[in-house]
Amino acid sequence: MELVYTHENKMLVENAKNMLELAGIEPHMKNEFAQGAAGDLVPNETWPELWVLNEDFEKAQAVVKVLNEKMTGEDWTCASCHEANASTFEICWNCQTERVIK
Ligand SMILES: [Zn+2]
Repeated sequence: MELVYTHENKMLVENAKNMLELAGIEPHMKNEFAQGAAGDLVPNETWPELWVLNEDFEKAQAVVKVLNEKMTGEDWTCASCHEANASTFEICWNCQTERVIK
């Protein structure tokens, strides 16, 4: 198993997990419930982590790379209903129209 993604924000880890699953990879989440019970642990050690099988690692890395690029991207406006969407959204939150990558 290889660690492919970790972040302190569990929402982002969940999002990455979904992306990996869409790519046909089965990620395993660790530390999913560790947050809030950290105590004296170094915070970094309780971040949720996504692990994948070694054979899936390269593919998973590519998925995460795309994800990271999107995360640093800008918000986008839906071509259909003109609502503003966060850069991490794949579909419009309002009308479910797929994001068009320019
Ligand atoms: Zn829309």
